Amino acid sequence: MYGYGGNILRINLTTGEMNIQPLSQDMAREWIGQRGFIAKILWDELKPGIDPLGPANKLVMSTGPLAGTLVPAGGKVSFGAKSPATGIYGESCMGGHIAAEMKYAGYDVIILEGASSKPCYIYIKDDQVEIRDASHLWGKGAIQTEKALKDELGEEFQICTIGPAGEKLVKYACISHDFGRQAGRTGMGTVMGSKKVKAIAICGHNSIPLADLEATVVKGKEMLKGCFAKENLDEWQNYGTAGVPVWANNIGAFPTKNFQSSYLEGNENLDGKIMREKMVVNDKGCFGCPSPCGKYCYVKPYNVYTEGPEYETTALIGGNCVFTDIEQIGYLNYLCDELGLDTISAGNVIGFAMECFEKGILTREQVGMELKFGDLESFKYLVEKIAAREGIGNILAEGVKYAAEQFGGDSIKFAIQVKGLEWSGYESRSAPSNMLAYMTCDLGAHHNRAWSVTHDIAVGRKVLEGKARKVIELQHIRPFFDLIGCCRLQWVEIGFELEHYPEVLRYVTGFDYSQDDLMKISEKVWNLTRAFAWREIEDFGRKYDYPPARFYEETVTTGPNAGDVLSKEELDFLLDDYYKLRGWDLNGLPTREKLEQMGLGSVVRQLESYGRKIS
Ligand code: SF4
Repeated sequence: MYGYGGNILRINLTTGEMNIQPLSQDMAREWIGQRGFIAKILWDELKPGIDPLGPANKLVMSTGPLAGTLVPAGGKVSFGAKSPATGIYGESCMGGHIAAEMKYAGYDVIILEGASSKPCYIYIKDDQVEIRDASHLWGKGAIQTEKALKDELGEEFQICTIGPAGEKLVKYACISHDFGRQAGRTGMGTVMGSKKVKAIAICGHNSIPLADLEATVVKGKEMLKGCFAKENLDEWQNYGTAGVPVWANNIGAFPTKNFQSSYLEGNENLDGKIMREKMVVNDKGCFGCPSPCGKYCYVKPYNVYTEGPEYETTALIGGNCVFTDIEQIGYLNYLCDELGLDTISAGNVIGFAMECFEKGILTREQVGMELKFGDLESFKYLVEKIAAREGIGNILAEGVKYAAEQFGGDSIKFAIQVKGLEWSGYESRSAPSNMLAYMTCDLGAHHNRAWSVTHDIAVGRKVLEGKARKVIELQHIRPFFDLIGCCRLQWVEIGFELEHYPEVLRYVTGFDYSQDDLMKISEKVWNLTRAFAWREIEDFGRKYDYPPARFYEETVTTGPNAGDVLSKEELDFLLDDYYKLRGWDLNGLPTREKLEQMGLGSVVRQLESYGRKIS
């Protein structure tokens, strides 16, 4: 098998059984890797209706063929499972160095099944695999745990961990790695916690066989030079996504005060230049990255080290909870990282709680203190309560949708989520394509699959026609990078050309894909994950794709887009167009014709066996 570790490692935590199966050529060719393997395995192996936090769920860790090679930025790994946050397909990707290590140990996929009865960690040194006791690590912070295991096992191990929030099954707990990289979204740390797995430590010594070594070396060098020659490389490297908050504010897209507005007064204090001056110790990159965007920081007033904050954290903790001091955001970022919480969901949930308090939906008696936007103590108090599932934190730990259902009033209208997943960091009432992208994302309201604010600006922010087509195009391209084990940011941020990838995949794997073949595979995975949601939820469809009422009933309160709103009719126009272009019915469900065209005839049969009526 060229380009692959060549094996699938399966570990049953209930019985302690393990086995290593070879990865088949067909699986590799048809699903490429990472997100493709995860979707296929979860579809084939999970029974519908299982408890996401029960032993029947599986946590699948997978990387792609370019990871660990000298192709630039081949350092991505994804985790997938039925999501405890949404009840549908869940997945989250992460950078760092563990993807490469996994390949060097000989694995493309690691599947954790069942559940351990006591805290453990997974030790993998090539084909030596052990389930080891982790009682000495249980209760420790995610980053502290990584440090403790590095001390115990040696620097050559690459380690991913969960924090206390994952242990307590907070629905938006993340998996951490490399002292500040996270697979943050859809509660993959929660699933790991439900299996009582505190960490996975990997060390590998094998090489990756390549179909054409010489051509890969030549092409890899050419790609590296191509990245180094890009005009905006310096800007990207200096600031990473920390350069984005001021731009997002100026165009009126920065989530502010629980998405009441898209413009934050004082946002200029969050500028990447200020962050660099005040906090950055050094730039930090993932495996093989030519454009390291990580910013390792020392936050002096609070005496803590943290990676970041990157854009999404600054948007959701900063704008959404109204903090304009970058050092305070850095400190709160550190707290979330150590507790093992996704900063997007945590900032969203806490902003929501602050608004509920302001509106009298939550009281001092219920919360235990007074909550205020922009108040450090309010955030700190809530985030610690959430991670410990204490008091009000036990409700907020379930996510913003559940919390709104408990708190009542009209709070569901401003619980900013889709399909139960909290909205990423772009206010989109003045960006219809981006609104549609987050509405239709297969995971819930997440920017990973498509982000298109610049497209809205380029073709007109009020224009609706043509927006669905662009969203679909992006929903195939961006997650394509999560098939191959590579970072997409070279393409997104520095303009590195997409055309390089089919060629380099041929040299690495020997598979001769065209650009079109690769997009078709990405589309196939998209249809499979949509089918997964339908298999789980009988009445799944269009009604699950709407954003919260705030986005179609309330106008943006301040800033350049004050007064903007997207009406329900406009959202329906976007959805109709989107479903038609996808070849789905008007309820947003894949048709028989579409699934068969994608080579997913067996999916049709399975859906029918569960009583789903396919048009
Ligand atoms: Fe990692 Fe950033 Fe480089 Fe992507 S651009 S590989 S996220 S350091």
